[in-house]
Amino acid sequence: MSVMTIMDMRRYIAEKLPPEAGFTRMEFEGPAIAIFVKNPEVLIDQGYIIADIVTTIKKRIVVRPDPEVRKKEEEVEREIASLVPKEAEITGITFDPSVGEVIIEARKPGLVIGKNGILMKEIVRRTKWKPRILRSPPRPSKTLRLYHSVLYHEERERERILRTIGERAFRPPLFEAGEVTVTCLGGFREVGRSAILVKTKESSVLLDCGLNPGAMGSPDAFPRLDDPQLDLSSLDAVVVTHAHLDHCALVPYLFKYGYDGPVYCTPPTAHLMTLLQMDFLKVLKEQGHVPPYDIRHVKEAILHTIPLNYGVVTDITPDIKLTFYNAGHILGSAMVHLHIGRGFHNIVYTGDFKFGRTMLLEPAAKEFPRVETLIMECTYGGEQVPSRAEAEAMFVKVINETLERNGKVLIPVPAVGRAQEMMLVIDKYMREGKLIEAPVYVDGMISEATAIHITFADFLASKLRSGIQHGTYNPFESEYFTTVDHPSERQAIIDGPPCIILASSGMLEGGPSVEYFKGLAEDERNTIVFVSYQIEGTLGGRIVRGLREVEMRGDEGKIRIIKIRARVEAIEGFTGHSDGKQLISFLYNIQPKPRLVLLCHGEKTRCTKMEEFVNNVLKKKLNKPRMKGLAPSILETIRLA
Ligand SMILES: [Zn+2]
Repeated sequence: MSVMTIMDMRRYIAEKLPPEAGFTRMEFEGPAIAIFVKNPEVLIDQGYIIADIVTTIKKRIVVRPDPEVRKKEEEVEREIASLVPKEAEITGITFDPSVGEVIIEARKPGLVIGKNGILMKEIVRRTKWKPRILRSPPRPSKTLRLYHSVLYHEERERERILRTIGERAFRPPLFEAGEVTVTCLGGFREVGRSAILVKTKESSVLLDCGLNPGAMGSPDAFPRLDDPQLDLSSLDAVVVTHAHLDHCALVPYLFKYGYDGPVYCTPPTAHLMTLLQMDFLKVLKEQGHVPPYDIRHVKEAILHTIPLNYGVVTDITPDIKLTFYNAGHILGSAMVHLHIGRGFHNIVYTGDFKFGRTMLLEPAAKEFPRVETLIMECTYGGEQVPSRAEAEAMFVKVINETLERNGKVLIPVPAVGRAQEMMLVIDKYMREGKLIEAPVYVDGMISEATAIHITFADFLASKLRSGIQHGTYNPFESEYFTTVDHPSERQAIIDGPPCIILASSGMLEGGPSVEYFKGLAEDERNTIVFVSYQIEGTLGGRIVRGLREVEMRGDEGKIRIIKIRARVEAIEGFTGHSDGKQLISFLYNIQPKPRLVLLCHGEKTRCTKMEEFVNNVLKKKLNKPRMKGLAPSILETIRLA
């Protein structure tokens, strides 16, 4: 059965489907096979039919209502309004015609789904559109709107892309499995510009395509996309682990230079990535840099993005299957499992990962079907970071001391991930009365990123998720937080009474945190608290390494020298990365054990420390004499099998 042709599959599916489903045709939809039917509700009622087909043809299948039978959009909206109770608070209805889905955003999604999905089924039956239901945040997310409007308005192009991706992924292979290489294009012996090329004789896949924000303006900001191993016209897929700029900033750039293939990531990453890329363009413009791409290319990236949930095995090339696992780093962050050549070789790439619990997310996965090569980040390789409890105690102490002396606290924070984690920490300690109550201002992209967290609450830590889903407690909507809606409000905050300010960006590279920094750094009563990793070369990185005088451009464009008199604290224990102990613990706990461990995403000494640990300690302790650690350099190609 493994050599079923497309014709075989079509015949088999037509035979298996009950006539009342009204099968019309079969098409590729990215890496899945779309079955078009006139009565999709029949297959929802009898879910086992599709499950049986999947077992036989071993491909992902999606059921799509035939466009011929779909009701007109206005009618669909009317039907939904008449079916769904008012209490569900629907805030928006949009359509994704390329896949026949109606996207319903509601404050209470459970009431749109109905008991045992009864309402959802009824929507399908009456409208012949498949509902996708999203939780709407209190402030509508602009990114979500942009994302869905691109899919809506570029329906034909999206269809063409999905077909082409499918045809490529399901092409008959030309080569037998027999060779796997990894080429280090960026993010090796350094942090930033992550990019890894995985090649077999048959196909090639790029894992991440980031930028080094500490090297802006220099050629070192970009991964080595000029490496002859990389050919954009034959590249099969781009896989993005998570929505941080050092992993996803340059994805649109690939489309500018002719890439026309898929971008795989989780659903939250798809939206967060768009948010970050748009903001990246804005910040570059403000700083007078020439952006490497423009909004057209961000839209191209959206049209080529195929969201995949954790645990879904997907054929992305004729000889590579991709599965995402939770990485515990930020919302939607994923570890990548590549199953190559029907078991010939298996790679796990951790991306950035946290092998420990945070308030926001569950810890990273540690069990995989198979793994011969592990590519592991080591931001904190060999380094001890204060424990989470110590970090929280320090954080509370520093803030209380600052507020007590009438100072203000500036927390420059990455908008995605750390900002939400710090909101949870602040909310918890203020509610418990351990943190002095003061206004908490949230400025920059944080609110937009938080909205996406609420929409994709399914991906949050279980306790937090159930609080949001059951409406019992949503800390993001806590009364302590005030969103700064306009830059004009900032001066009043800088001149006003003691307060806490959470502002992006996290390394003082653009964004409102820089504006607050200019206004607050010279007053010794204030404190600047860094709670995220500060890459060397960024302003934040230089300040935590001792810089106390900064030249900055003022409002009128004049250069001004800022003497930093405010207290500076860098609290590392909040990291969304595994610390030194957690990295080691992950190596002891990962199942099964890899033969080769490639170290990446860490400054040189941290990568080499972990390399030594694998070669001198781990392999002996595990009694795996053939296990090997390696900290390769940029442009190195390693043959895995
Ligand atoms: Zn990251």
